[in-house]
Amino acid sequence: MSAFVGKYADDLIKTAKYIATPGKGILAADESTGTIGKRLASINVENVESNRQALRELLFTAPDALQYLSGVILFEETLYQKSSSGKPFVDILNESNVLPGIKVDKGTVDLAGTNGETTTQGLDSLGARCAKYYEAGARFAKWRAVLKIGLTEPSELSIQQNAQGLARYAMICQENGLAPIVEPEILTDGSHDIKTCAAATEKVLAAVYKALNDQHVLLEGTLLKPNMVTPGSDSPKVGAEVIAEYTVAALRRTVPPAVPGVVFLSGGQSEEDATLNLNAMNKLAVLKPWTLSFSFGRALQQSTIKKWGGKKENVAAAQAAFLVRCKANSEATFGKYVGGGSADVAASESLYVKGYKY
Ligand code: 13P
Repeated sequence: MSAFVGKYADDLIKTAKYIATPGKGILAADESTGTIGKRLASINVENVESNRQALRELLFTAPDALQYLSGVILFEETLYQKSSSGKPFVDILNESNVLPGIKVDKGTVDLAGTNGETTTQGLDSLGARCAKYYEAGARFAKWRAVLKIGLTEPSELSIQQNAQGLARYAMICQENGLAPIVEPEILTDGSHDIKTCAAATEKVLAAVYKALNDQHVLLEGTLLKPNMVTPGSDSPKVGAEVIAEYTVAALRRTVPPAVPGVVFLSGGQSEEDATLNLNAMNKLAVLKPWTLSFSFGRALQQSTIKKWGGKKENVAAAQAAFLVRCKANSEATFGKYVGGGSADVAASESLYVKGYKY
């Protein structure tokens, strides 16, 4: 059976292709209310709607930054928010040719009988929610499946459950005009080496594309958001060139060329490491049939949030820090980043949190 070609097929293909424009990437600003609370707590700012709105306004109105973005992933609350001057965020993004996206998963729950593995919730009423988000201006979506590496993990059960969930989510999005970002994140937690991460990544991606094909998802109207292939967080670090080689090899073995773009998550890497790794991948002289770009959350916001500190008088400096990271990652999509994009120590700080929940 061939891919589903519904009434939105042309739009989905256009959306995914646009998001994968070389030189542009995605800002993941879709932290749930709980997660954004942790970010705000780190700068002693209270987790109330006005502060969440202020942070998002700072990001979306940062001078010159939006030229490096093709999409921003929003949390439901933000999709309906306005700037302090009363302009909907969706309009602000659209005016800068940045597509609004929406996180549609409802977080993870334990898979009983496994060693703490999870599956992602949110399929119930997903179609109705997608239709509502499309109406509000969203044109793409995100669903995060989480896997982990251990002695017996990722288990076959978790690989299959998460692949099926991602495929079902992707199809429901496509039926409703949202281009799905398929995100199977393998956490870095552990003391495994890079080869173990490579093997797990290949196995998971192979299962994900089998499920997407089985469920007739139109691959041209999707994007992949994977982890980079790295050693575990408790293992010695390796260079960007090594990460690039293993990551691109894993993708070449599993991701069909019909997929227009691969937009990496940063997964707790420092801002600078995430950029350098992306840059090294784009420098590799092997055939890469997809654009390799970014869909970073923490690695695009960390130094910005620190600079801001919740204070009005710091907004301009925080926006300048955000511009530095956006530009650096844009250069990395061409393999043209020379490093040291930010003199800021925050840019080199590891953002790793054990068992991270988005
Ligand atoms: P990080 O880049 O902070 O890992 O998050 C990206 C994301 O959207 C995870 O779902």
